[in-house]
Amino acid sequence: MPKVRVMIRLSQPYIDQETIDAVTQVLRSGNLVQGRNAVRLEEELARVNNTAHAIVFNSGTAALHTALYALGITRGDEVITTPFSFVATANSILMCGAKPVFVDIAEDTYLLDINLIEEKITEKTKAIMSVDLYGQPCDYDALKEIAKRHNLFLIADACQAIGATYNNAPIGSIADVTCFSLYATKNVMMGEGGALTTNNSELAKIARRFKHHGQDVDTPYTYFQLGYNYRPTDITAAIGLQQIKNLDEWTKKRQENATKLTRGLRDIKGLITPITAPNRTHVFHQYTIRLTEQFPLSRDELQMYLLEEEIKTTVYYPSILPLHKHLRDFVHYKKGDLPIAEKVTKQVLSLPVHPLLGDADLKQITQAIRSVT
Ligand SMILES: *Cc1c(COP(=O)(O)O)cnc(C)c1O
Repeated sequence: MPKVRVMIRLSQPYIDQETIDAVTQVLRSGNLVQGRNAVRLEEELARVNNTAHAIVFNSGTAALHTALYALGITRGDEVITTPFSFVATANSILMCGAKPVFVDIAEDTYLLDINLIEEKITEKTKAIMSVDLYGQPCDYDALKEIAKRHNLFLIADACQAIGATYNNAPIGSIADVTCFSLYATKNVMMGEGGALTTNNSELAKIARRFKHHGQDVDTPYTYFQLGYNYRPTDITAAIGLQQIKNLDEWTKKRQENATKLTRGLRDIKGLITPITAPNRTHVFHQYTIRLTEQFPLSRDELQMYLLEEEIKTTVYYPSILPLHKHLRDFVHYKKGDLPIAEKVTKQVLSLPVHPLLGDADLKQITQAIRSVT
């Protein structure tokens, strides 16, 4: 009988009985909003990140928008960021009326190229928004030094990097503000959700008001400032609170899976496996390989082949941000301005690495790739 194979998914939520019970409990309680689960999730996020403040939102995008607003980023300001990220990174800057200024990435880590930042700083530059892409922290020693020298704020888009560390410090404790996404496919999730962490109490106060229409929780209908409704429900907070309990275990499993993939894919001509740069831990939200001209198939051909082999992969990201219509005209992008990002975007492919994969799955992935070489 032919072996029945199930599709190996790129991400897979782990919904245990405790998560289901926690959600049921919220529903039964009748308190669906502004409840205890959100407060407890914030305490847990602050503890995990070793920060004074953690604030939860209904999305990572909301957290990014709030971080920028709380730092006073506004119309006419410029924010330096990477072209190789999810669109929310740039959109949050646009939401403040500010302009994203894109700096090319390093070819080995796909993170902001530290050496190219300073030439893009103008008198309008107010902040750097770094992205810890695929779960790998940026070079924060260098970023902090540049930010300090030019009097800029540093915002970490760590939406993919919860649980990562830099110089042994939790990722949420390094920048002026760090933002996380707790979207369904992220390493820790609440369905839709997000968070920010900071040690700055004034900033935390503004951020709390911003997500609550400018009000303090204990002074309703007094509006201190502009705000939005960026509050999560207590249902999603209950999911997040259960999921974050698994953070260490799942991070370790992702790292082990990544090590096994790298071992299985070593010494293949034209295939570059991900590296972890010094002084940091990579939490492998994605395990992303890169295929050069020396690989026998094109990236898209390999992706199609793997799909036939019941292995789902995705391209993060198929286009660089300044090429999207709503950004292109705004930043006056010309082809060739960001050569490394333009090249890499045609070569990357993210393979399944999530914690529910077993050794047989990992072997199936590496053997399928080897079979075409
Ligand atoms: C997921 C993600 C976001 C946005 O998070 P949402 O929760 O989907 O709003 C922002 N930046 C990066 C790098 C992300 O991966």
